[in-house]
Formats: sequence, C-alpha cells, structure tokens
Amino acid sequence: MARIARAAQAAGRAAGDVTLVAVSKTQPWDAIAPVLAAGQKVFGENRVQEAQARWTGKAEGLTLHLIGPLQTNKAADAVAFFDVIETLDREKLARVLAEEVQRQGRRPRLYVQVNTGEEPQKAGVIPAEADAFIAMARKTYGLEPEGLMCIPPAEEPPGPHFALLAKIAARNGLSKLSMGMSGDFETAIAFGATSVRVGSAVFGARSYPA
Ligand SMILES: *Cc1c(COP(=O)(O)O)cnc(C)c1O
Repeated sequence: MARIARAAQAAGRAAGDVTLVAVSKTQPWDAIAPVLAAGQKVFGENRVQEAQARWTGKAEGLTLHLIGPLQTNKAADAVAFFDVIETLDREKLARVLAEEVQRQGRRPRLYVQVNTGEEPQKAGVIPAEADAFIAMARKTYGLEPEGLMCIPPAEEPPGPHFALLAKIAARNGLSKLSMGMSGDFETAIAFGATSVRVGSAVFGARSYPA
C-alpha cells in the first residue's frame, strides 16, 4: 500500500485513486488471513472454482474480482459469485453474461480485457477490434463495461502497453484501467491505472504456478 501511495503521489495523483486488488490465487489461508486482518477488502482470483473454495462464507464485506479467463460454462457461477469480472473478451461471453445478468438480477462490474501485445496464447480483444467490441457489448447486449484490463507481454517494457490501454479507454468513454502487477504496478500507476492487481508483492511468492 505504501508503494502504491508513493507511486500515485509521484504521478501527481491521490493514493485513493488507485485500488489495490490483492491477488490471492493459489495462496494458503495462512497467507491471506494477515492481509485481511490488516484491512484489505479487495481480492483477485483467476479461477472460478478455486475462488469459490477459498472465499465462500468468508466474502462478506469484500469485493472479489475475477481476473482470469472465463469459460462460458462457468459464466453463471461467475456472475453469482464475483463483484467484478475483468476478462470479458469475446462475443459469446458477452451474450452469456448478459443472459445471466438478466436471469440472476445481479450485475457484476465488467472490464474488457485487451490483448495489447497481440500474443496468440493470451486472452483479450486485439486493440484494432476493441472499439467495435465495446460498442457491440453495449448496443447488442446492454452491458456497460466500466473499464479495460491488460496484461502486457512479459518480455517487453510495459509502458507502451499501458499507454495504449489508456488511449483505447479514453476514446471509448471508459474511466477505469486495471493494469499493473507486482513487477510493474508503479509504472502502471504513472500511466493512469485505477486498479493494480498485485499478488506476490503482497503475499510473497506463490507456492505453485497458477
Ligand atoms: C497472477 C495474476 C496477477 C498477479 O501477479 P503478481 O505478479 O503475483 O503480482 C495479476 N493479474 C493477473 C491477470 C494474474 O493472473
């Protein structure tokens, strides 16, 4: 938190403008309990079932973000369980999420994931298709994404990717930017991140890969 506040200040922003999403995937409860006790209320998970196992019955007063890819057959569970879904990235998922929002009367906040590095193995809409995708989600499915999310390529400087995400968000009237992880959240804050998804820098190294 102190590093977020310093990075925000350095960028001429208020510390309160940046939300820390503490990424608790794969963490044992022993690692999570002290973070909860310290007052952290926003957590990120990248798998629906793992998140349900970890947080069911413990999520009162918390805000849970899904930050991993979402299969349509888990969309109903995701809408029921998460407060924020950050990985809307294809029309079929938009359709199923819209159906579940109608059916369940629950409206999780949504982010569109953009594959800024156009990496074939990574989820997300490619930048050239982002405007049309956002328009389609709004017009065809009545969804109202509040922002964009990206995961820059591991081997490239992240700044240009964060700048690109901010540009796409601005021209689409989206105010929220979920960008920055343990290795680059300070850079992301300098480029306008409104939330950063930080795992290992909060909890220590994960004991096994996600
Ligand atoms: C695991 C994960 C993070 C957190 O990664 P750290 O490097 O541990 O901070 C952030 N975003 C996504 C999408 C992740 O899957």
